[in-house]
Amino acid sequence: MLCPKCGQKTKVSGVDSGTINKRFRKCLKCGYNFVTLEMVKADINGEFLEYMATVIEFNKKTFNT
Ligand SMILES: [Zn+2]
Repeated sequence: MLCPKCGQKTKVSGVDSGTINKRFRKCLKCGYNFVTLEMVKADINGEFLEYMATVIEFNKKTFNT
């Protein structure tokens, strides 16, 4: 996953696993913090259908609390 702001590599700083995996990421270059929601959709037989990743940008002020 690349930084939505500067396009550089990011690292995962935390994971919240569940039906939807939430990954907390931080850009190595500009320090931008963001979260991705990642979910694998499977059908009734458990076959892989689709992988979804959504970026949620969030305000640095709220992240720092
Ligand atoms: Zn960045």
